[in-house]
Parts: sequence; C-alpha cells; structure tokens
Amino acid sequence: MPDAAAHEADDRPDQAAITILYDARFELHDTGPDHPEQAQRVSAIVERLQHSASLKPWLRWPTFSAATRADLLRVHSPAYVELLDAEQAGVKPGEHRLLSTGDTVISAHSVAVAMLASGAGMAGVDAVMHQQSPVAFALVRPPGHHATRERGMGFCLTNHIAVAARYAQQHYAIQRILIVDIDVHHGNGTQAIFEADNSVFYFSAHQHPLYPGSGRASEKGVGAGTGYTMNVDVPPSSDEHILLRALDQQLVPAMRQFRPQLIMVSAGLDAHAGDRLGALQYSDRGYGEVATRLKQLAETYAQGRMVWLLEGGYVPLQNADAVEAMIGALLR
Ligand SMILES: [Zn+2]
Repeated sequence: MPDAAAHEADDRPDQAAITILYDARFELHDTGPDHPEQAQRVSAIVERLQHSASLKPWLRWPTFSAATRADLLRVHSPAYVELLDAEQAGVKPGEHRLLSTGDTVISAHSVAVAMLASGAGMAGVDAVMHQQSPVAFALVRPPGHHATRERGMGFCLTNHIAVAARYAQQHYAIQRILIVDIDVHHGNGTQAIFEADNSVFYFSAHQHPLYPGSGRASEKGVGAGTGYTMNVDVPPSSDEHILLRALDQQLVPAMRQFRPQLIMVSAGLDAHAGDRLGALQYSDRGYGEVATRLKQLAETYAQGRMVWLLEGGYVPLQNADAVEAMIGALLR
C-alpha cells in the first residue's frame, strides 16, 4: 500500500489512486421485490469502500455523464436502440415489465440507468487514458455482458464493457484491448460483439453447464477474429484454481503475442462461494489473486491501464468482500 499520509484529499487526482465510478441513480433501476438483481448489490460495495480506513484515501469518486445514443450505436444496432426507447416509453411509473428480447426487467428509469452505467465505463477509460489513475472501477447496475448487438437478456440492457471498449478505440486510438470476464456466466454478448474482431481479445472463464450455455473452449472467434476469443469451462463446485491456472498457462502466453494496450475486466462476482446464481466456490483471497495477476499483465503491456466493470454478484456483503480484496490487491 502506498503511503497515505501524503495524500489526504479524496478528490485529488493521484497516480496511485483508483477511480471509482458510481452514481446513486443506479438504484433507480427497479427490478421488483423478488428479483436477485437489486440495488443493494452495489450500494453494499460503496458503503464498504467509503468506510475502509485503508482503502478510502486512495479512491477518487468523480462525477460522469451517461452514454449517448451515438455511444451505444458503436456497439448496438439502430433497431435495438429504438426498441429500448419504445419499450421504455411504454412503462408506467411503478410498473415492471420484461424486455421483449430477453429476461431483463425494465422499470420507469431502466434505460436511462443502463446508459449511465455504460457512461461509467467510458469515464473509466477517460480516467486511465488521462492518467488520473492507472485503474478505474465502475460499480454499476444493471450488468451488461449478456447484451448482444441487438438483444438485451440476462438482466442486461446495454453492453457497458463493449461500449467502453469501442469508445477507447475511437476516442483514444487504442488498437488492442484485452477483456477478461470472470463472471460465473459466460459473457455471450461481449463475445458475439467482438468475435470477428482481432483488435479485442475476449477471455472468459465461467461455470459450465450454466446460463446462457455458450462459451465452449472450441469457440475461438470467427473470420479475422479467429484466435482472439478464449473460453475456459469451470465445473460446478470448483474454487478459483482453474481460473488462476488458465490466466497463467493460457492467457499470459497469448498476451505475449497480442500485447494489449488496455485491459478491461468484466468483474462479475457471482462465482463467489455462496452466491445464489452460480455453484462455484471462489474465495476473497482468490479474487485478490486474480487482481494481482491482471495488474501484472497491465503493467507489462498496458502502462498499468485497467478498467474494471461490475457485472453479476448477488449477495451484497459478499460483493463488498470481493471488491475490497481486489482493490486492496490493485493498490499493493
Ligand atoms: Zn453472472
């Protein structure tokens, strides 16, 4: 941990700090009383960070803007963006509906909240590219990695990490981005968006069998993107050792060729032991070890630049434990 005494102001740009992108309006996405994707998933993490004596001095909390329609259109089809607008317009205050394309609840403010979450990812890119901090962590909801170009599903409306990656490429001329997805579920949306693209390398280790069913090791990308998608199956009941081994033995060698200029992380926490939506057994220590390995990769190839985005994770206090472990490791 760096020396905190020299850096007492929370809001001062600081090379050693981590930028946290959070907005209380994320709580306005209302999924109804019995849905696992609740606001407390994120607010528990925020509360932990704000009360951590060891981490708090190193975190900066800038404000940020929502993604615009043009930002979404770098990733999503015009027809899907119009569908989101049209279906959102039909939701009355206090009402919950299922999006017509998949299992995602929308309420009165959901599309605006999703666009704010995509904007958080973009602001994370801005923070690391402007050297305000080497690492940004976007604590967002709803999650994003199941959303494809033309379909919201799996609690997701817009694919934040994809929107942020395209923004980094177009706004900062970043040519090679690594996306590491540690959610218990395969990020089918992110894979589909980038599978034919050799400028974005997508790595996912996820429970199999489990929703959404995609992500076999045989899925390695298509066309020019062949070899730029890497999937690892993790059997139910496994702890983090399969993920850590895959990072060391598969991802690290692949990155010697790819040499990412920016690393982005779909930081789903639902592989945690005890999570309601998966059957893996990752520990807090394991999450910290993942963070340490990705930090080493970022320092080797990407000038330390990393943008982390929350995806799943459905036990609020466990989410706080895992993020505390990861941010602690990133600050070491
Ligand atoms: Zn998940």
